[in-house]
Amino acid sequence: MKKQESSIWEQVLVKIRAEISEPSFQTWFTHTQLEINDSNWTIQTPNVFASDWLTNQYHNLIKETIYAVSGETPEIKIVHAGSKEAISDSEADIYVILRQIDRLPEQKREALYGMIQERRAAERGQPPKEERMPFAKYDVFLFDLDGVIYVGNRALPGSVESLARLREQGKTIRFITNNPCTTRERVAKKLKRLGVEATETEVVTSAWATARYLQQEGYANVFLLSDEHLEWECEQVGVGTDENGEIEAVVVGWDGSITFADIQRAAGFIYRGARLIATNADVTFPGADGPLPAVGVMLETLRMSTKVEPIIIGKPYPQMVEKALEGISPDVRTVMIGDNPDTDIAGAFNAGLPAILISDKPADLGLNEEEVYKPTARMVNLLELFR
Ligand SMILES: [Mg+2]
Repeated sequence: MKKQESSIWEQVLVKIRAEISEPSFQTWFTHTQLEINDSNWTIQTPNVFASDWLTNQYHNLIKETIYAVSGETPEIKIVHAGSKEAISDSEADIYVILRQIDRLPEQKREALYGMIQERRAAERGQPPKEERMPFAKYDVFLFDLDGVIYVGNRALPGSVESLARLREQGKTIRFITNNPCTTRERVAKKLKRLGVEATETEVVTSAWATARYLQQEGYANVFLLSDEHLEWECEQVGVGTDENGEIEAVVVGWDGSITFADIQRAAGFIYRGARLIATNADVTFPGADGPLPAVGVMLETLRMSTKVEPIIIGKPYPQMVEKALEGISPDVRTVMIGDNPDTDIAGAFNAGLPAILISDKPADLGLNEEEVYKPTARMVNLLELFR
């Protein structure tokens, strides 16, 4: 081969490889050699590519690229002169599949590429894909609800399917929410309405966890800044909520109708020795026009005015996560999945658990720089557990 032609061919290969990422093209050029006699360029390729279809595809591409890099228009002949031994049998099988794949609709093509990757992984001694998927790393899944499984009354894309797949795999599932204005039964019903299998005993709300905490710590009577759901939870475990009785603790939940006079009354109980306990410390919750003041604002008002440090049950404090894990062996692999770095991810960290952040922000943007607690993984939605 003349030096000048050889350098043209190298340029052609560089240009083609740079422009085409499709694997069968890349492989084809890796196994291809060039012979030049005068103006006849003969391109030799292994037997496995003995296909008129491929030959036609590459013939035009090569001709155009040679012209683009050199201005020359040599005669090109592609011959299938290579030896099949140049590549292994399994690779040859894969290339045969690749030829077919190129002609398939996109969805089928992706599925087949996946299959090919699996064969390659198996050849490298890797476990099957199912065992390499993120979900396979864990036995117990703690799910935050809003922003992970649903937003408002709408299931998020992929959440119903993903939860069903985890069930099929026999995984243990818990749903944990900082929302004190609901009960476990109501949460389970809502999940079922959206198509997610759930039982009351799999749900942990901050109201339920707070009532359990009060019971375990021996509180007999408390003053509630909350709606009827926390009151109901307290009733279930025999913790009194008689405002006229002796108040051992002020418990902060949420109710839109709480007045400043109620908060002042609560402060009075704290001055007289009552403990300050909060279902959570979330400062805002999402509203139609932007974030609205939440439990944490009321809690902060009390803390600032009384100078008493609260006991906080919800995420990111470990109480509620520990309640969710009650009855689950500490040896199993558990993961927390949430959309809020400050509560879910920090909560997982405080409980010593790995965490997956559901976020549509790419990993290299957004909160990453300032994040104190980094998630173990970041996913756009729950379907990524199976990729
Ligand atoms: Mg959330």
